Amino acid sequence: MKKILNLIEPLRGLAFPELCQVCGESWAGAADGFACRKCRTQVFKTSPPWCEQCGLPFDGTTEESITCKNCNEADWQFTRARSMMSARGLVREVIHRYKYNRHEFFECLMIHWLLDCENLFPELPECIIPVPLYPVKERDRGFNQAERLAAGVAKHMDLPMESGRLHRVKHTETQTNLSRKERMVNMHGAFEASKQMSFARVLLVDDVMTTGATASACAAALRGVGVQNVDVLTLARGMPV
Ligand SMILES: [Zn+2]
Ligand SMILES: [Zn+2]
Repeated sequence: MKKILNLIEPLRGLAFPELCQVCGESWAGAADGFACRKCRTQVFKTSPPWCEQCGLPFDGTTEESITCKNCNEADWQFTRARSMMSARGLVREVIHRYKYNRHEFFECLMIHWLLDCENLFPELPECIIPVPLYPVKERDRGFNQAERLAAGVAKHMDLPMESGRLHRVKHTETQTNLSRKERMVNMHGAFEASKQMSFARVLLVDDVMTTGATASACAAALRGVGVQNVDVLTLARGMPV
């Protein structure tokens, strides 16, 4: 719990009740990310073997490097995507409440989870870039969750965060009920990068990755301005319909 203790330091003294904010029954303070031990077991971690490109876990054991069927067909523009958690149980609930109910007291817990994945990429990035929201959506929500999470990751990894470099130029409705192909069409051209970049290697950060269509559209825009390698780190992996 060393990392999380460092991250929550600025929060000390704020008047959060020292109760688990998931079940509301057991004790849980800032050092626990406001989730009690029992609730914290509701986390479904993903683990290798997984698809070398998109990080989708495979059943069974293998030492070989494999790429899943989706990645073979999709021609994703990112190099590697990794999430340590499946978007179920506590993780799903925490992300939902953080985004839609502004339960910001979960932010440190989410960053702590994200940092579990930082060693999953073979090379260090030169900067961190959050997946941007469409400006109207960000204004309505009041914040961009990806940017807040990316800021925590950047601070902890001692890397610059370049949040103004990538823009969402197309509004897209929720993609929950869309297939992988429909999402790819929907996201095409949704992002633009503003100017030529001198970074060869960038780490893109978001809360959830489902098919990879959003991450790939971001990566396409970044590669269009000179970035050679875009890795993707998300807190959780959702399963496409
Ligand atoms: Zn609890
Ligand atoms: Zn894959």
